[in-house]
Amino acid sequence: MRIFDPHIHMTSRTTDDYERMAAAGVRALVEPAFWLGQPRTSVGSFTDYFDSLVGWEPFRASQFGIRHHCTIALNPKEANDARCREVLQVLPRYLEKDGVVAVGEIGYDSMTPEEDEVFAAQLALAVEHELPAMVHTPHRDKARGTDRTLAVVRESGIDPGRVVVDHLNEVTVARVAESGCWMGFSIYPDTKMTPQRMVAILQEHGLDRVLVNSAADWGRSDPLLTRYTGEAMLAAGFSDDDVDRVLWRNPVEFYGQSKRLDVSDLDTIGAPLPATFEGNSILRGGS
Ligand SMILES: [Zn+2]
Repeated sequence: MRIFDPHIHMTSRTTDDYERMAAAGVRALVEPAFWLGQPRTSVGSFTDYFDSLVGWEPFRASQFGIRHHCTIALNPKEANDARCREVLQVLPRYLEKDGVVAVGEIGYDSMTPEEDEVFAAQLALAVEHELPAMVHTPHRDKARGTDRTLAVVRESGIDPGRVVVDHLNEVTVARVAESGCWMGFSIYPDTKMTPQRMVAILQEHGLDRVLVNSAADWGRSDPLLTRYTGEAMLAAGFSDDDVDRVLWRNPVEFYGQSKRLDVSDLDTIGAPLPATFEGNSILRGGS
């Protein structure tokens, strides 16, 4: 099983995680820029972080044979802090860099007027730089947040096929499917979406325009949940080719729209699973 994790925050993970991910079949990933827990108070903290996403983190990943890409943006939470607004001015120079495959994460946290403004401005940047957009949906008030997100995406004029709307669940998937945007799902160890619930969504909605990620951030999370979802798909009767489509070919197709994705040398199906991986029997998540 080869895995492309399309949304994982490696900055918050240890080297052991890279090791386990490589053993589980993760060979490429996208790390979206997000908040760092401690609020940032100046644009310099952002540029240092962005520099690490295009420099240090790809190096760290490469030591484990994992291809690292990132998305760059002012995240929705910090869009509300006036001290961070200047970040919008430095984004264009990062959006030209090779390892940057989308504008993101953008979207809503608390759905404030400040977030409206920053979201629209960054969708415009995606259009201008001919990049896909990675959109986070709020964890509270999800249905309303998703509707408002889709309305802003429509108004921006960006091609919906170049937008992934992430952190979806059973309540929000249908409206995003209808919109023509890609559907992103973050799988968590014990809250929100689990591998089993993900499998049920794939059975109902099919495999088109679906991206599955482990998110793996500051909260309780597990960078192997992509692998466990692949195992749960196989257990439910999906084929190896179906798993490869969801966990590899779909993310390659979506982020390939940036014209900056280079995974062609990783492009072999059926590479054997390293013997060190012991997670096969751990189908996490329960009901
Ligand atoms: Zn995220």
